[in-house]
Amino acid sequence: MIYFDNNDTTPLHPEALEAMLPYFRDKFANPASLHSLGLETESALDEARGKISGAIGADARELIFTSGATEANNIAIFGAARARPSRKHLIISTVEHASVLNVARRLEDDGYRVTRLPVDGQGYVDPALLRDTIDDDTFMVSIVHANHEIGVIQDIRKLAEIAHEKDAWFHTDAAQALGKMPFNVAELGVDLASFNGHKLHGPKGVGGLYVSRRTRPKRLMEGAPQEFDLRPGTENVPAIVGFGRAVEIAVRDLPDVTAHVKPLMKRLAEGLARIPHSHLNGPPPEERLLGNVNVTFLYIEGEAILMHLSNRGICVSSGSACSSKSLTPSTVLTAIGLLHEEAHGAIRFSLSRFNSSDEVETVISKVGEVVDLLRSMTAFVPELHSERMGAKSFYRKR
Ligand SMILES: *Cc1c(COP(=O)(O)O)cnc(C)c1O
Repeated sequence: MIYFDNNDTTPLHPEALEAMLPYFRDKFANPASLHSLGLETESALDEARGKISGAIGADARELIFTSGATEANNIAIFGAARARPSRKHLIISTVEHASVLNVARRLEDDGYRVTRLPVDGQGYVDPALLRDTIDDDTFMVSIVHANHEIGVIQDIRKLAEIAHEKDAWFHTDAAQALGKMPFNVAELGVDLASFNGHKLHGPKGVGGLYVSRRTRPKRLMEGAPQEFDLRPGTENVPAIVGFGRAVEIAVRDLPDVTAHVKPLMKRLAEGLARIPHSHLNGPPPEERLLGNVNVTFLYIEGEAILMHLSNRGICVSSGSACSSKSLTPSTVLTAIGLLHEEAHGAIRFSLSRFNSSDEVETVISKVGEVVDLLRSMTAFVPELHSERMGAKSFYRKR
């Protein structure tokens, strides 16, 4: 199998698995217990918290563990709305993950005003638009750091600065950023940041929310006072230990992994660019999230390409994982201006440290084969479509 779906989830790093095993067996105690076994798991929890907070430039007291980035996004945004009841305006972008988009929709149903900042043809948010939109009623600005579908990386530092001019809290969904690029909350100036374990070769079902000392969202669930009274419930100690180890490894190996993956993604983009009527969605390879390549193959369905590649032992995504089982096109792809038929022909390839250049060559040739096959099976008449879609070059303009 060739696994090119690492923006969906990643294989567990063997060292992260190794670190977790004792906490499934002998070291099972509740970290809140006062006996010696409890103290042992409590110190494992503290160690993981120290590793992750240290890696992102935060204090250990500024990191809470959650069940993943979805929960962290929910606590950040709903929690901020509840903590600042006099303000009723939320600003997000049109390229957010469903766990931000749908929180915003819920707030809208509850009477809040939501502004969704549009993006340009490569997916970039224009900071000037934020400055035009933000007001004294804005309680929070939440913008995804590195996009899960098209790999666009936003100027978070600038956006946070503008948010602070109006005393709005700034949150970023950094689930794709952590571990794949330098990420430091102090340098970025963010107040809250969400991430998870399974996008960086850690376990699923665990994540974290950075909560700066300057902010205090309200908790969403009631219970015992775990996680600085922000997220009740007994912590998932084995997963947290694995998450801590995965972050430590990702930060340690980032220069080597970057040097390995960057040429692979460039080569993949170059190879796919030779397939006629194809174009790259999002910024050029040198600007985008490490490992992410998203390409539209016109006149065929992404789902059909995906299934044919799957039959050939290659795993990729069409659109975003969450929308890949529905027929509505990806909101991110329509946000960058793709027509429905262009969005439906999109395939996301996402590489990790565990991929090789041989795999890239295999994928390039198999994709070419599948695209040819599918186009030969359809009434493929480019002239009929070209008027509507226009002849586009592989690399899109902003
Ligand atoms: C995967 C992902 C999430 C959701 O993370 P879970 O841990 O699966 O809840 C949120 N935001 C982005 C950008 C993601 O890529």
